[in-house]
Order: sequence, then structure tokens, then C-alpha cells
Amino acid sequence: MEILVDGKQVKLRYMKKPHIRNAYLRFKGDMLVVTARDERKAEQIIRENRKWIEKHYRSIRESRRLFDANSILFSGKRFVALLDKTARNSVETNSDVIIFRAKNEDSAERLLDRWLSERSISMVSDIVVSKAKEHCAEFRSIGICRGSRWGSCSSKKELKFNKYICMIPIDITEYVVAHELAHTHQLNHSRAFWDEVERMCPDYRTLRKELRSYDSYRRSVFRKLE
Ligand SMILES: [Zn+2]
Repeated sequence: MEILVDGKQVKLRYMKKPHIRNAYLRFKGDMLVVTARDERKAEQIIRENRKWIEKHYRSIRESRRLFDANSILFSGKRFVALLDKTARNSVETNSDVIIFRAKNEDSAERLLDRWLSERSISMVSDIVVSKAKEHCAEFRSIGICRGSRWGSCSSKKELKFNKYICMIPIDITEYVVAHELAHTHQLNHSRAFWDEVERMCPDYRTLRKELRSYDSYRRSVFRKLE
């Protein structure tokens, strides 16, 4: 079996399960996994879902490309990412270029991961500290979290923000901070909570909508980085 999308061969794994009636398709990384009772069924499901396969494969490659030293999103802006193999372990940002100095692509990716995390914590800490002071909110700690949430606040008032939050525009990060700081007063999403958010971030309705537009980007990034 061979599947070509835009001239590239899609990696394929065939899992034979003789007892199953229907065949299934899923992507594991950029590899297509076909589960079927025999090869005839496997070929059939691939043929019938050609469009789905192409669409998913393209979106996976698109998201991977971000971390193959082409471009990355930072503060809501797309930067050209360059890899300089002549020096080691440093990151330099210019107006629209970020240069990663590392011995190869793998090290550059680790460097990028660490760099994003450091930028996120420093950016978010500044906003938390000034907003908390301005609005008399108390918190215990600021940390970084992975996974699918932009931020969280525990009952002990420990704030956590997504490791890659520095990728989104700063005004949207300000909304995320206001949201979590409001939870230090209200550990729910009641009317009183949203009033609190509005007090800290008057434009929160628009920013909250804009934040959602970054959700699919974040998911594609995480698939690659985590
Ligand atoms: Zn919340």
C-alpha cells in the first residue's frame, strides 16, 4: 500500500485484527495507522477516506514545519526561525527573525522549547505582579503548566500558566492573567467572577474570543512538542 500526499509518501502501519468487523484509521504523529481484519479491508478504508487522510496529513506537516526552523509564533507575531550551526546554545531575536544557535535540528528544538518556556514565565510573571498589585489580588506562586490549558488557579492560590503562552499576543495573555487572578477571589465562573475579570480587564469579552482562535494552533504545537 502506498499513499502519496503532495508528492510525499505517508508512513503507514497496518495492524491486523482478524476479529474486528470495521476498519479504523488514525494518525500517530505523522504515521497513518490502519486497523483492519485483512488487507482488502485496509485498502478499502484508505480509498474511501482519501480526502480525510490528505487533510490531516497536511495539517500535521504544517504544524511540524513550525519547529523545523522555518517560522514560529511569538507574541502573536510570526518570526522567521533560523538555525545557525556554527555556534552553540543561544537564541537571538531581531525585529522579525529568531536565530537559534545549536549543533543540529534536535538541539535547536530543545533550545526552542526551553526558550519559549523561559520567555513565558518571565512575561507572565511581570503581568501577574503588576495586575495583582493594581487590583489587590493575592497569590501564592506562579508556575508553568503543560497540556491543554492556558492557565489555572488552585484553591491555595497557586497560579499556573501554559508553557507556550508567550506565543500569543500580550493583550490576550493579560486576559488569561486577569482570569486566573479573578479566581483568587472566586473559585468558580459565576457572575461575580466575570465582574471581577471585567474590573481587571475591561475588554475581556473580545480577548476571550481571540484566545479561542489560538486553541487549534496550541493543539498542533503540543502534538509536536509534548
Ligand atoms: Zn476559569
